[in-house]
Amino acid sequence: MSARRRGDSTRSVHAGLPPAENGTPYLPGPTFASAYHLAGDDVHAVPGYLREGNPTWAAYEAALAELEGGEVVLFASGMAACSALLLALEPGQILVVPDDCYFGVRVVARDHLVARGVVVRSVPTDLDAVVAACADAAMVWIETPSNPKLDVLDVAAVRAAIGPDATLVVDNTLATPLVQRPLELGADVSVASASKHLTGHSDLLLGYCAVSDPERAAALRAWRGLTGAIPGPFEAWLAHRSLATFGVRVERGTANARAVADLLGTRDDVRGVRYPGFGTVVGFELADAAAVARFFGASSLVTEATSFGGVHTNAERRGRWGSDDVAEGFVRFSAGIEDTEDLLADLIAALDAASA
Ligand SMILES: *Cc1c(COP(=O)(O)O)cnc(C)c1O
Repeated sequence: MSARRRGDSTRSVHAGLPPAENGTPYLPGPTFASAYHLAGDDVHAVPGYLREGNPTWAAYEAALAELEGGEVVLFASGMAACSALLLALEPGQILVVPDDCYFGVRVVARDHLVARGVVVRSVPTDLDAVVAACADAAMVWIETPSNPKLDVLDVAAVRAAIGPDATLVVDNTLATPLVQRPLELGADVSVASASKHLTGHSDLLLGYCAVSDPERAAALRAWRGLTGAIPGPFEAWLAHRSLATFGVRVERGTANARAVADLLGTRDDVRGVRYPGFGTVVGFELADAAAVARFFGASSLVTEATSFGGVHTNAERRGRWGSDDVAEGFVRFSAGIEDTEDLLADLIAALDAASA
């Protein structure tokens, strides 16, 4: 009998919880300690200091490991997790990186890896382009869907096309482990920011690497402890608490995003609607930057903010950062969990105002 994987919300609610025991809570509270009791000479048997380990991290790591299907190392932020992978590259090694991936990854590659002698090959999020650039690569980094343009790649097809030698890293932030489990598709690492959908309340930063190779997990843990890229126990606990609603948040946010994408597709004043068919993020273009400003001015539900995956609907004109190759009127829109009808009514009013 093949085991059916339980549904998204069932797994989100139960992930990483300890066995039921009378008198104990569902989710134990955070453990706050910089140093732990450590008597005797066997100093590596248990963590003695917070940089080496913490039970609250371990519980959340176990939860993420269930969702991603691998071993998980939690970091202070998504960028701390990405940097742990990128800064392990050595002079002369080749990194293939998307030219439209998360800007922090591009900047670490440009400003820190090139200076150390790592060869950085920047390519579009496109299978042929990745394959054309992958010869002798030590690491192939992909982000699917990409952010902010929402281009998609088939992870299994990338693995098959690049062969087994390069370390294949997939940034799984936008897809989330409910939609895409990169390790099962042949990736060596699924790296993600937990600051977005996973936590969902726009109140903390965390990140992680999920890996299939225990040696890689041990190396990442050692790097984390040494460099101090560690999460705070309270953030890890808040994130684990928020995980219980992950499934329902993504379900509602996705329904809202679909409805928004459908609405945008019917309007003559909106161009270039991009929606990969899953997830909460939609891209679209208004006429120009002034139209986007009028849109925000007229909306009472769409807050202007960066980031995505939160319970509050938000959006931003990406061109304002100057770091993405997008049109002046390009908007990245992240659907929250408000009632669909309210959101659509607000959007229609804001779009009407934008094109007035
Ligand atoms: C936000 C984000 C990151 C970085 O995560 P932080 O938690 O903000 O450090 C990396 N990759 C993608 C795709 C992101 O959206």
